[in-house]
Amino acid sequence: KVRVRFAPSPTGPLHLGGARTALYDYLFAKNKGGEFILRIEDTDTARYVEGAEDYIMEALEWCGIIPDESPKHGGNYGPYRQSERRDIYERYTEQILKTDYAYIAFDTPEELDEIRKEYEEKGEVFAYNNYTRNRLKNSLTLSEEEVGELLQKKVPYVVRFKMPVDRILQLEDIIRGNFSVNTNTLDDKVLVKNDGMPTYHFANIIDDHEMKISHVIRGEEWLPSLGLHTLLYEAMGWEAPQFAHLSLILKPEGKGKLSKRDGDKFGFPVFPLNFTDSETGAVSKGYREEGYFPEAFINFLALLGWSPSDDKEILTLDEMAKEFDLYKVHKAGARFSKEKAEWFNHQYLQRKSDEEILELLKNFEELENTKISDEKLLKIISLMKERATFVKDIFESGKFFFQRPVHYDEKASKKAWGTETSETMTALSAELEKWDFEPETLKQNIHDFAESRSLGMGKVMMPLRLALVGELKGPDVPDILHILGKDESLTRIKNTVN
Ligand code: GLU
Repeated sequence: KVRVRFAPSPTGPLHLGGARTALYDYLFAKNKGGEFILRIEDTDTARYVEGAEDYIMEALEWCGIIPDESPKHGGNYGPYRQSERRDIYERYTEQILKTDYAYIAFDTPEELDEIRKEYEEKGEVFAYNNYTRNRLKNSLTLSEEEVGELLQKKVPYVVRFKMPVDRILQLEDIIRGNFSVNTNTLDDKVLVKNDGMPTYHFANIIDDHEMKISHVIRGEEWLPSLGLHTLLYEAMGWEAPQFAHLSLILKPEGKGKLSKRDGDKFGFPVFPLNFTDSETGAVSKGYREEGYFPEAFINFLALLGWSPSDDKEILTLDEMAKEFDLYKVHKAGARFSKEKAEWFNHQYLQRKSDEEILELLKNFEELENTKISDEKLLKIISLMKERATFVKDIFESGKFFFQRPVHYDEKASKKAWGTETSETMTALSAELEKWDFEPETLKQNIHDFAESRSLGMGKVMMPLRLALVGELKGPDVPDILHILGKDESLTRIKNTVN
Protein backbone atom coordinates (compact mmCIF):
# COMPACT_ATOMS: atom_id res chain seq x y z
CA LYS A 1 0.00 0.00 0.00
CA VAL A 2 1.40 3.38 -0.98
CA ARG A 3 1.55 5.82 1.91
CA VAL A 4 3.26 9.17 1.48
CA ARG A 5 3.72 11.86 4.06
CA PHE A 6 4.37 15.57 4.01
CA ALA A 7 6.36 16.33 7.14
CA PRO A 8 6.82 20.08 7.57
CA SER A 9 8.29 21.70 10.64
CA PRO A 10 6.04 24.47 11.95
CA THR A 11 8.76 27.09 11.84
CA GLY A 12 7.14 29.70 9.62
CA PRO A 13 5.38 30.20 6.33
CA LEU A 14 5.05 27.52 3.73
CA HIS A 15 7.32 28.39 0.86
CA LEU A 16 6.74 27.60 -2.77
CA GLY A 17 9.15 24.65 -2.54
CA GLY A 18 7.34 23.23 0.48
CA ALA A 19 3.98 23.58 -1.20
CA ARG A 20 5.32 21.77 -4.26
CA THR A 21 6.65 18.93 -2.10
CA ALA A 22 3.23 18.57 -0.50
CA LEU A 23 1.60 18.60 -3.92
CA TYR A 24 3.92 15.91 -5.34
CA ASP A 25 3.46 13.81 -2.18
CA TYR A 26 -0.28 14.06 -2.68
CA LEU A 27 -0.25 13.44 -6.44
CA PHE A 28 1.95 10.39 -6.12
CA ALA A 29 -0.15 8.90 -3.32
CA LYS A 30 -3.40 9.47 -5.22
CA ASN A 31 -1.93 8.15 -8.45
CA LYS A 32 -1.21 4.87 -6.69
CA GLY A 33 -4.55 4.79 -4.89
CA GLY A 34 -2.67 5.34 -1.66
CA GLU A 35 -2.83 7.67 1.29
CA PHE A 36 -1.47 11.13 1.90
CA ILE A 37 -0.45 11.92 5.45
CA LEU A 38 0.41 15.22 7.09
CA ARG A 39 2.85 14.89 9.98
CA ILE A 40 3.98 17.90 11.97
CA GLU A 41 7.66 17.69 12.89
CA ASP A 42 7.81 19.92 15.92
CA THR A 43 10.63 18.46 18.01
CA ASP A 44 12.76 21.57 17.58
CA THR A 45 11.11 23.76 20.20
CA ALA A 46 13.58 26.60 19.64
CA ARG A 47 12.36 27.10 16.08
CA TYR A 48 8.68 26.50 16.76
CA VAL A 49 6.40 29.27 15.55
CA GLU A 50 2.95 29.63 17.05
CA GLY A 51 0.24 29.43 14.43
CA ALA A 52 2.45 27.85 11.78
CA GLU A 53 0.72 24.48 12.00
CA ASP A 54 -2.74 25.97 11.42
CA TYR A 55 -1.29 27.97 8.60
CA ILE A 56 0.13 24.88 6.91
CA MET A 57 -3.21 23.10 7.23
CA GLU A 58 -5.05 26.10 5.81
CA ALA A 59 -2.58 26.41 2.95
CA LEU A 60 -3.06 22.75 2.00
CA GLU A 61 -6.83 23.07 2.19
CA TRP A 62 -6.78 26.14 -0.02
CA CYS A 63 -4.78 24.13 -2.57
CA GLY A 64 -7.32 21.32 -2.35
CA ILE A 65 -4.69 18.94 -0.99
CA ILE A 66 -6.64 17.28 1.78
CA PRO A 67 -4.73 14.78 3.94
CA ASP A 68 -6.23 11.38 4.65
CA GLU A 69 -4.49 11.47 8.02
CA SER A 70 -3.24 14.49 9.97
CA PRO A 71 -3.40 16.10 13.42
CA LYS A 72 -6.72 17.57 12.31
CA HIS A 73 -8.18 14.53 10.55
CA GLY A 74 -6.79 11.87 12.87
CA GLY A 75 -6.03 8.36 11.61
CA ASN A 76 -4.83 4.97 12.73
CA TYR A 77 -1.15 5.87 13.05
CA GLY A 78 -1.34 8.95 15.28
CA PRO A 79 -0.52 11.08 17.05
CA TYR A 80 0.54 13.08 13.98
CA ARG A 81 2.49 15.67 15.94
CA GLN A 82 5.99 14.60 16.94
CA SER A 83 5.80 16.48 20.21
CA GLU A 84 3.09 14.02 21.26
CA ARG A 85 5.09 10.89 20.41
CA ARG A 86 7.74 11.09 23.10
CA ASP A 87 7.01 7.66 24.59
CA ILE A 88 7.43 6.04 21.18
CA TYR A 89 10.81 7.69 20.72
CA GLU A 90 11.94 6.66 24.20
CA ARG A 91 11.20 3.05 23.41
CA TYR A 92 13.29 3.15 20.26
CA THR A 93 16.11 5.07 21.93
CA GLU A 94 16.49 2.15 24.31
CA GLN A 95 16.42 -0.23 21.39
CA ILE A 96 19.12 1.49 19.33
CA LEU A 97 21.38 1.86 22.38
CA LYS A 98 21.41 -1.90 22.64
CA THR A 99 22.93 -2.14 19.17
CA ASP A 100 26.38 -1.20 18.03
CA TYR A 101 24.98 1.74 16.08
CA ALA A 102 24.62 4.24 18.91
CA TYR A 103 26.35 5.49 22.01
CA ILE A 104 25.88 8.17 24.58
CA ALA A 105 28.09 11.22 24.77
CA PHE A 106 28.62 13.54 27.73
CA ASP A 107 30.62 16.29 26.07
CA THR A 108 29.16 19.63 27.02
CA PRO A 109 28.55 22.28 24.35
CA GLU A 110 31.39 24.30 25.95
CA GLU A 111 33.81 21.40 25.66
CA LEU A 112 32.88 20.86 22.06
CA ASP A 113 33.34 24.56 21.32
CA GLU A 114 36.76 24.37 22.88
CA ILE A 115 37.76 21.50 20.60
CA ARG A 116 36.28 23.22 17.59
CA LYS A 117 38.48 26.21 18.31
CA GLU A 118 41.56 24.02 18.57
CA TYR A 119 40.84 22.60 15.13
CA GLU A 120 40.19 26.02 13.69
CA GLU A 121 43.59 27.19 14.89
CA LYS A 122 45.12 24.30 12.99
CA GLY A 123 43.10 25.33 9.96
CA GLU A 124 40.89 22.23 10.18
CA VAL A 125 37.21 21.60 10.75
CA PHE A 126 36.13 19.51 13.70
CA ALA A 127 33.56 16.77 13.27
CA TYR A 128 32.35 14.27 15.83
CA ASN A 129 33.14 11.11 13.85
CA ASN A 130 35.03 7.86 13.79
CA TYR A 131 38.37 9.72 13.77
CA THR A 132 37.61 11.86 16.81
CA ARG A 133 35.09 9.93 18.89
CA ASN A 134 37.82 7.90 20.57
CA ARG A 135 39.22 11.02 22.18
CA LEU A 136 35.93 12.42 23.42
CA LYS A 137 33.77 11.91 26.47
CA ASN A 138 31.37 9.13 25.61
CA SER A 139 30.37 5.59 26.40
CA LEU A 140 32.95 4.28 23.93
CA THR A 141 35.87 5.85 25.78
CA LEU A 142 34.67 5.81 29.37
CA SER A 143 34.47 2.67 31.47
CA GLU A 144 31.12 1.19 32.30
CA GLU A 145 31.45 2.37 35.89
CA GLU A 146 32.26 5.92 34.82
CA VAL A 147 29.23 5.97 32.55
CA GLY A 148 27.01 4.56 35.27
CA GLU A 149 28.24 7.19 37.68
CA LEU A 150 27.60 10.05 35.30
CA LEU A 151 24.13 8.75 34.55
CA GLN A 152 23.40 8.44 38.24
CA LYS A 153 24.51 12.03 38.78
CA LYS A 154 22.08 12.99 36.04
CA VAL A 155 24.81 14.58 33.96
CA PRO A 156 23.16 15.58 30.69
CA TYR A 157 24.03 13.49 27.66
CA VAL A 158 23.06 13.02 24.06
CA VAL A 159 22.70 9.85 22.01
CA ARG A 160 24.86 9.78 18.91
CA PHE A 161 24.85 7.58 15.85
CA LYS A 162 27.99 5.49 15.52
CA MET A 163 28.83 5.86 11.90
CA PRO A 164 30.40 2.65 10.57
CA VAL A 165 33.99 2.90 9.36
CA ASP A 166 35.00 2.40 5.72
CA ARG A 167 31.75 1.37 4.25
CA ILE A 168 30.56 2.31 0.80
CA LEU A 169 26.82 2.82 0.89
CA GLN A 170 24.89 2.19 -2.29
CA LEU A 171 21.99 4.60 -2.21
CA GLU A 172 18.95 4.72 -4.44
CA ASP A 173 16.82 7.65 -5.36
CA ILE A 174 13.89 7.50 -7.77
CA ILE A 175 14.73 10.88 -9.27
CA ARG A 176 18.51 11.03 -8.85
CA GLY A 177 19.25 7.43 -9.68
CA ASN A 178 21.87 5.44 -7.79
CA PHE A 179 24.90 6.90 -6.11
CA SER A 180 27.36 5.86 -3.44
CA VAL A 181 28.69 7.45 -0.29
CA ASN A 182 31.68 6.50 1.82
CA THR A 183 30.72 6.45 5.50
CA ASN A 184 34.08 7.98 6.39
CA THR A 185 32.74 11.27 5.06
CA LEU A 186 29.77 11.21 7.44
CA ASP A 187 29.73 12.20 11.09
CA ASP A 188 28.16 10.87 14.27
CA LYS A 189 24.90 12.82 14.25
CA VAL A 190 23.02 13.42 17.47
CA LEU A 191 19.92 11.20 17.55
CA VAL A 192 18.53 12.22 20.90
CA LYS A 193 19.13 15.62 22.49
CA ASN A 194 19.92 16.17 26.15
CA ASP A 195 16.26 16.98 26.83
CA GLY A 196 15.34 13.46 25.78
CA MET A 197 13.69 14.54 22.53
CA PRO A 198 14.93 12.98 19.31
CA THR A 199 16.47 15.10 16.59
CA TYR A 200 14.89 15.33 13.16
CA HIS A 201 16.82 12.33 11.82
CA PHE A 202 15.80 9.85 14.46
CA ALA A 203 12.20 10.98 14.90
CA ASN A 204 11.77 11.08 11.14
CA ILE A 205 12.77 7.48 10.48
CA ILE A 206 10.89 6.18 13.51
CA ASP A 207 7.72 7.87 12.36
CA ASP A 208 8.12 6.85 8.75
CA HIS A 209 8.45 3.28 9.94
CA GLU A 210 5.64 3.45 12.50
CA MET A 211 3.32 5.20 10.05
CA LYS A 212 4.11 2.61 7.37
CA ILE A 213 5.35 5.20 4.90
CA SER A 214 6.22 3.54 1.60
CA HIS A 215 7.73 6.53 -0.24
CA VAL A 216 9.57 9.55 1.04
CA ILE A 217 9.32 12.42 -1.41
CA ARG A 218 11.02 15.55 -0.15
CA GLY A 219 13.28 18.46 -1.02
CA GLU A 220 16.80 17.96 -2.28
CA GLU A 221 18.22 19.60 0.86
CA TRP A 222 17.68 16.23 2.55
CA LEU A 223 19.68 14.22 0.04
CA PRO A 224 22.88 14.45 2.14
CA SER A 225 20.96 12.78 5.00
CA LEU A 226 20.05 9.75 2.92
CA GLY A 227 23.16 7.82 3.97
CA LEU A 228 22.43 8.30 7.64
CA HIS A 229 18.76 7.49 7.23
CA THR A 230 19.53 4.32 5.33
CA LEU A 231 21.88 3.21 8.10
CA LEU A 232 19.32 4.08 10.75
CA TYR A 233 16.85 1.69 9.10
CA GLU A 234 19.56 -0.93 9.06
CA ALA A 235 20.34 -0.31 12.75
CA MET A 236 16.70 -0.70 13.70
CA GLY A 237 16.29 -3.76 11.52
CA TRP A 238 13.57 -2.10 9.45
CA GLU A 239 12.97 -2.02 5.74
CA ALA A 240 13.57 1.48 4.41
CA PRO A 241 10.97 3.27 2.29
CA GLN A 242 11.82 4.34 -1.24
CA PHE A 243 13.23 7.83 -1.61
CA ALA A 244 12.76 10.62 -4.13
CA HIS A 245 14.46 13.97 -3.67
CA LEU A 246 13.01 16.92 -5.56
CA SER A 247 15.28 19.45 -7.17
CA LEU A 248 15.19 23.10 -6.21
CA ILE A 249 12.96 25.80 -7.56
CA LEU A 250 15.37 28.29 -9.07
CA LYS A 251 15.33 32.03 -9.48
CA PRO A 252 13.93 33.20 -12.86
CA GLU A 253 17.43 33.80 -14.18
CA GLY A 254 18.15 30.13 -13.51
CA LYS A 255 20.91 30.55 -10.95
CA GLY A 256 20.41 29.93 -7.26
CA LYS A 257 17.49 28.90 -5.15
CA LEU A 258 14.32 30.96 -5.20
CA SER A 259 14.07 32.68 -1.85
CA LYS A 260 11.71 34.81 0.13
CA ARG A 261 13.79 37.83 -0.87
CA ASP A 262 13.04 37.14 -4.53
CA GLY A 263 9.39 37.48 -3.76
CA ASP A 264 10.05 40.95 -2.40
CA LYS A 265 12.12 41.81 -5.44
CA PHE A 266 9.50 40.84 -7.99
CA GLY A 267 6.73 42.35 -5.94
CA PHE A 268 5.44 38.85 -5.87
CA PRO A 269 4.68 36.53 -2.96
CA VAL A 270 6.60 33.34 -2.52
CA PHE A 271 4.20 32.18 0.19
CA PRO A 272 1.13 30.36 -0.96
CA LEU A 273 -1.05 32.17 1.53
CA ASN A 274 -1.31 35.08 3.89
CA PHE A 275 0.94 34.29 6.80
CA THR A 276 0.99 36.41 9.94
CA ASP A 277 4.09 36.04 12.04
CA SER A 278 2.80 35.58 15.57
CA GLU A 279 5.74 37.40 17.10
CA THR A 280 6.19 40.38 14.87
CA GLY A 281 2.67 40.52 13.47
CA ALA A 282 4.20 41.02 10.04
CA VAL A 283 1.99 39.76 7.23
CA SER A 284 3.43 38.12 4.16
CA LYS A 285 1.04 38.37 1.29
CA GLY A 286 0.55 35.18 -0.63
CA TYR A 287 -0.79 33.84 -3.87
CA ARG A 288 -4.34 33.89 -2.55
CA GLU A 289 -4.13 37.59 -1.71
CA GLU A 290 -2.57 38.31 -5.06
CA GLY A 291 -5.73 36.95 -6.66
CA TYR A 292 -4.60 33.53 -7.84
CA PHE A 293 -7.16 30.79 -8.18
CA PRO A 294 -6.10 27.73 -6.19
CA GLU A 295 -6.58 25.57 -9.32
CA ALA A 296 -4.22 27.81 -11.28
CA PHE A 297 -1.70 27.91 -8.46
CA ILE A 298 -1.43 24.12 -8.08
CA ASN A 299 -1.39 23.64 -11.84
CA PHE A 300 1.48 26.08 -12.18
CA LEU A 301 3.24 24.53 -9.19
CA ALA A 302 2.90 20.96 -10.47
CA LEU A 303 4.56 21.86 -13.76
CA LEU A 304 7.56 23.37 -11.98
CA GLY A 305 9.55 20.19 -12.29
CA TRP A 306 7.18 17.75 -13.91
CA SER A 307 5.38 17.50 -17.24
CA PRO A 308 2.69 15.03 -18.26
CA SER A 309 3.41 12.73 -21.18
CA ASP A 310 1.53 14.72 -23.83
CA ASP A 311 2.83 18.08 -22.56
CA LYS A 312 -0.69 19.15 -21.78
CA GLU A 313 -0.59 22.25 -19.64
CA ILE A 314 -4.01 22.80 -18.14
CA LEU A 315 -4.90 20.04 -15.72
CA THR A 316 -7.14 19.71 -12.70
CA LEU A 317 -5.84 18.19 -9.49
CA ASP A 318 -7.53 14.89 -10.36
CA GLU A 319 -6.14 14.88 -13.88
CA MET A 320 -2.66 15.56 -12.51
CA ALA A 321 -3.04 12.74 -10.01
CA LYS A 322 -4.01 10.40 -12.82
CA GLU A 323 -0.92 11.28 -14.85
CA PHE A 324 1.66 11.91 -12.17
CA ASP A 325 4.83 9.89 -12.45
CA LEU A 326 7.81 10.28 -10.14
CA TYR A 327 10.11 8.92 -12.83
CA LYS A 328 9.16 11.88 -15.01
CA VAL A 329 10.05 14.47 -12.39
CA HIS A 330 12.95 16.50 -13.73
CA LYS A 331 16.37 16.03 -12.25
CA ALA A 332 17.41 19.61 -12.98
CA GLY A 333 16.08 22.57 -11.03
CA ALA A 334 12.93 24.23 -12.29
CA ARG A 335 13.06 27.92 -13.05
CA PHE A 336 10.39 30.02 -11.47
CA SER A 337 8.60 32.38 -13.84
CA LYS A 338 6.16 35.02 -12.77
CA GLU A 339 4.88 35.36 -16.35
CA LYS A 340 4.09 31.66 -16.44
CA ALA A 341 2.28 31.84 -13.12
CA GLU A 342 0.18 34.68 -14.49
CA TRP A 343 -0.43 32.84 -17.72
CA PHE A 344 -1.99 29.99 -15.78
CA ASN A 345 -4.25 32.30 -13.86
CA HIS A 346 -5.30 33.99 -17.08
CA GLN A 347 -6.16 30.59 -18.57
CA TYR A 348 -8.27 29.64 -15.58
CA LEU A 349 -10.02 32.99 -15.63
CA GLN A 350 -11.02 32.39 -19.27
CA ARG A 351 -12.45 29.02 -18.28
CA LYS A 352 -14.76 30.51 -15.68
CA SER A 353 -18.27 31.45 -16.71
CA ASP A 354 -19.23 35.11 -16.58
CA GLU A 355 -21.62 34.26 -13.77
CA GLU A 356 -18.84 32.71 -11.69
CA ILE A 357 -16.67 35.75 -12.21
CA LEU A 358 -19.59 37.97 -11.23
CA GLU A 359 -19.80 36.20 -7.89
CA LEU A 360 -16.08 36.75 -7.33
CA LEU A 361 -16.33 40.37 -8.41
CA LYS A 362 -18.89 40.94 -5.71
CA ASN A 363 -16.23 40.35 -3.05
CA PHE A 364 -14.48 43.54 -4.05
CA GLU A 365 -15.03 46.82 -2.23
CA GLU A 366 -15.03 48.62 -5.55
CA LEU A 367 -18.47 47.22 -6.25
CA GLU A 368 -20.04 48.42 -3.04
CA ASN A 369 -20.85 51.94 -4.14
CA THR A 370 -21.88 51.27 -7.69
CA LYS A 371 -25.44 50.72 -8.73
CA ILE A 372 -24.54 48.78 -11.83
CA SER A 373 -26.97 45.97 -12.53
CA ASP A 374 -25.84 42.36 -12.69
CA GLU A 375 -26.85 42.33 -16.33
CA LYS A 376 -24.47 45.14 -17.09
CA LEU A 377 -21.73 43.61 -14.96
CA LEU A 378 -22.00 40.40 -16.95
CA LYS A 379 -21.48 42.38 -20.15
CA ILE A 380 -18.44 44.11 -18.68
CA ILE A 381 -17.02 40.77 -17.59
CA SER A 382 -17.51 39.15 -20.96
CA LEU A 383 -15.84 42.10 -22.65
CA MET A 384 -12.92 42.50 -20.24
CA LYS A 385 -11.99 39.03 -19.08
CA GLU A 386 -10.00 38.21 -22.16
CA ARG A 387 -7.41 40.79 -21.24
CA ALA A 388 -7.46 40.09 -17.50
CA THR A 389 -5.09 37.91 -15.49
CA PHE A 390 -6.87 38.32 -12.17
CA VAL A 391 -10.47 39.12 -11.34
CA LYS A 392 -9.28 42.44 -9.91
CA ASP A 393 -7.94 43.42 -13.34
CA ILE A 394 -11.50 43.82 -14.50
CA PHE A 395 -11.75 46.77 -12.14
CA GLU A 396 -8.37 48.10 -13.04
CA SER A 397 -8.55 47.95 -16.81
CA GLY A 398 -12.30 48.56 -16.85
CA LYS A 399 -12.53 51.16 -14.13
CA PHE A 400 -14.17 53.65 -16.51
CA PHE A 401 -17.24 51.45 -16.47
CA PHE A 402 -17.58 52.08 -12.76
CA GLN A 403 -16.68 55.74 -12.60
CA ARG A 404 -16.66 58.68 -14.97
CA PRO A 405 -13.25 59.89 -15.96
CA VAL A 406 -12.26 62.82 -13.79
CA HIS A 407 -8.90 63.19 -15.35
CA TYR A 408 -8.04 63.02 -19.03
CA ASP A 409 -4.66 61.74 -20.00
CA GLU A 410 -2.68 64.71 -21.21
CA LYS A 411 -0.77 63.08 -24.02
CA ALA A 412 -3.92 61.37 -25.24
CA SER A 413 -5.82 64.65 -25.19
CA LYS A 414 -3.20 66.31 -27.34
CA LYS A 415 -3.35 63.48 -29.80
CA ALA A 416 -7.12 63.13 -29.93
CA TRP A 417 -8.35 66.67 -29.68
CA GLY A 418 -8.07 69.11 -32.59
CA THR A 419 -9.58 72.52 -33.24
CA GLU A 420 -12.71 71.07 -34.82
CA THR A 421 -13.21 68.26 -32.35
CA SER A 422 -15.68 69.99 -30.03
CA GLU A 423 -17.90 70.76 -32.95
CA THR A 424 -17.65 67.20 -34.28
CA MET A 425 -18.50 65.75 -30.85
CA THR A 426 -21.49 68.02 -30.43
CA ALA A 427 -22.82 66.94 -33.81
CA LEU A 428 -22.14 63.31 -32.97
CA SER A 429 -24.03 63.69 -29.69
CA ALA A 430 -27.07 64.92 -31.57
CA GLU A 431 -26.91 61.80 -33.76
CA LEU A 432 -26.28 59.43 -30.85
CA GLU A 433 -29.52 60.66 -29.27
CA LYS A 434 -31.41 59.08 -32.14
CA TRP A 435 -29.55 55.81 -32.42
CA ASP A 436 -30.23 52.41 -31.14
CA PHE A 437 -27.38 51.46 -28.74
CA GLU A 438 -26.54 48.03 -30.06
CA PRO A 439 -22.81 47.59 -30.82
CA GLU A 440 -23.29 46.66 -34.49
CA THR A 441 -25.62 49.57 -35.23
CA LEU A 442 -23.36 51.97 -33.39
CA LYS A 443 -20.36 50.82 -35.36
CA GLN A 444 -22.09 51.31 -38.69
CA ASN A 445 -23.62 54.64 -37.74
CA ILE A 446 -20.36 56.11 -36.42
CA HIS A 447 -18.69 55.00 -39.60
CA ASP A 448 -21.37 56.66 -41.74
CA PHE A 449 -21.20 59.79 -39.61
CA ALA A 450 -17.45 60.11 -40.15
CA GLU A 451 -17.83 59.52 -43.88
CA SER A 452 -20.60 62.08 -44.27
CA ARG A 453 -18.26 64.68 -42.81
CA SER A 454 -15.25 63.43 -44.78
CA LEU A 455 -13.43 62.65 -41.54
CA GLY A 456 -11.05 59.74 -40.98
CA MET A 457 -12.34 57.25 -38.38
CA GLY A 458 -9.58 58.26 -35.98
CA LYS A 459 -10.84 61.82 -35.88
CA VAL A 460 -14.13 60.54 -34.45
CA MET A 461 -13.13 57.43 -32.54
CA MET A 462 -10.19 58.89 -30.65
CA PRO A 463 -11.95 61.87 -29.05
CA LEU A 464 -14.97 59.66 -28.40
CA ARG A 465 -12.79 57.12 -26.62
CA LEU A 466 -11.07 59.85 -24.66
CA ALA A 467 -14.44 61.21 -23.50
CA LEU A 468 -15.70 57.80 -22.44
CA VAL A 469 -12.53 56.29 -20.96
CA GLY A 470 -10.26 59.24 -20.09
CA GLU A 471 -7.40 57.74 -22.06
CA LEU A 472 -6.85 56.02 -25.40
CA LYS A 473 -7.17 52.49 -24.09
CA GLY A 474 -9.85 49.89 -23.64
CA PRO A 475 -12.08 47.66 -25.72
CA ASP A 476 -13.94 48.70 -28.87
CA VAL A 477 -15.76 52.02 -28.57
CA PRO A 478 -19.17 50.69 -29.73
CA ASP A 479 -18.97 48.07 -26.96
CA ILE A 480 -18.18 50.73 -24.40
CA LEU A 481 -21.07 52.90 -25.61
CA HIS A 482 -23.41 49.95 -25.50
CA ILE A 483 -22.53 49.08 -21.91
CA LEU A 484 -22.48 52.64 -20.60
CA GLY A 485 -25.84 53.31 -22.24
CA LYS A 486 -27.12 56.40 -23.95
CA ASP A 487 -27.50 58.77 -20.99
CA GLU A 488 -24.14 58.07 -19.43
CA SER A 489 -22.34 58.18 -22.78
CA LEU A 490 -23.88 61.53 -23.69
CA THR A 491 -23.01 62.97 -20.28
CA ARG A 492 -19.40 61.93 -20.69
CA ILE A 493 -19.17 63.45 -24.14
CA LYS A 494 -20.76 66.66 -22.91
CA ASN A 495 -18.16 66.89 -20.12
CA THR A 496 -15.38 67.11 -22.65
CA VAL A 497 -16.98 69.54 -25.07
CA ASN A 498 -16.55 73.23 -24.39
N1 GLU B 1 10.68 18.24 8.85
C1 GLU B 1 11.44 18.20 7.64
C2 GLU B 1 11.25 19.52 6.92
O1 GLU B 1 10.74 20.42 7.49
C3 GLU B 1 10.97 17.03 6.82
C4 GLU B 1 11.98 16.47 5.88
C5 GLU B 1 11.51 15.13 5.33
O2 GLU B 1 10.52 15.12 4.60
O3 GLU B 1 12.10 14.13 5.68
O4 GLU B 1 11.62 19.71 5.81
